Amino acid sequence: MAVILDGKSLAAAIRNEIREEAACLPRKPGLAAIMVGDDPASRLYVNNKEKDCAACGFYSRRFDLPGSVSEEELLGIIGKLNANAAVDGVLVQLPLPASISERRIVEAIAPEKDVDAFHPLSVGRMVYGKAPVWPCTPSGIAAMLDAYQIPIDGKICVMVGRSDIVGKPMGLLLLRRNGTVIYCHRHTRDLAAMTRQADILIVAAGHPGLITPDMVKTGAAVIDVAMNRDPATGAFTGDVCFDSVKEKASYITPVPGGVGPMTRAMLMRNVLTLAKLHMGLAEPGDIEY
Ligand code: NAD
Repeated sequence: MAVILDGKSLAAAIRNEIREEAACLPRKPGLAAIMVGDDPASRLYVNNKEKDCAACGFYSRRFDLPGSVSEEELLGIIGKLNANAAVDGVLVQLPLPASISERRIVEAIAPEKDVDAFHPLSVGRMVYGKAPVWPCTPSGIAAMLDAYQIPIDGKICVMVGRSDIVGKPMGLLLLRRNGTVIYCHRHTRDLAAMTRQADILIVAAGHPGLITPDMVKTGAAVIDVAMNRDPATGAFTGDVCFDSVKEKASYITPVPGGVGPMTRAMLMRNVLTLAKLHMGLAEPGDIEY
């Protein structure tokens, strides 16, 4: 039976460390979060970010903009935040209304305040291995693997999903850590043949029940990123058949309580890292995890 990777406790411990480190800085690290429209999931995420900032002793600013806001108005707010010295990280909660170009907005965030690491310059730095911060979900997964001493070096790592925010940067991170990486996606012909090779299987497809025990190698570490909301009960489930796969894997993440809390903790860590860079207390370098 697999060890259950407890993202919730680990994230709480990381937040404590962040709070202690932040308390020693000359000023509070600052995060500005912009939300457009009234999508309930986005609202929950932004509420959580605000709560986490308070728990870490950070300065936070929040902008709740109507869905009718123009791209120019949004760009104006981002421009002001880019110039605001109390703000170390700027994030715009995605998705945005169809009338606004997400690419244009993401590219308007100053790269040195790009706390989500979605800017093309940040992505380039990840490819070249010189990124001060990485996207929160992949770095949260790496931190969890490290905390449980699950090695990546030399392992076969299968990434199901290739989105810009999870799958692609996760694969890059695993490659940086000397994993042998296989990307799978909707066009992958025989998904099970790929996933069965995985020492580390990471799944972010958004397809409940996608990964069954026959698709998992005995002893694998299985990381379920997905957060699928059951419309009937409102409960969240992952993409992995947890009860049956846990009998075959060595390690497995629960949903909820696995990757989600780690993603939240890494956002705080990214704000702290950017703040230290802005205060001249750190050198722009490589990832530490
Ligand atoms: P996305 O919809 O942008 O991408 C999904 C990817 O999965 C695509 O690359 C697609 O090709 C692939 N895919 C879909 N069905 C597949 C199938 N049957 N076989 C193989 N590949 C398939 O999704 P995303 O933004 O990366 O999010 C994925 C999931 O992770 C969602 O459930 C989302 O809610 C969740 N998520 C969780 C966190 C967290 O912190 N826990 C963070 C981000 C996303």
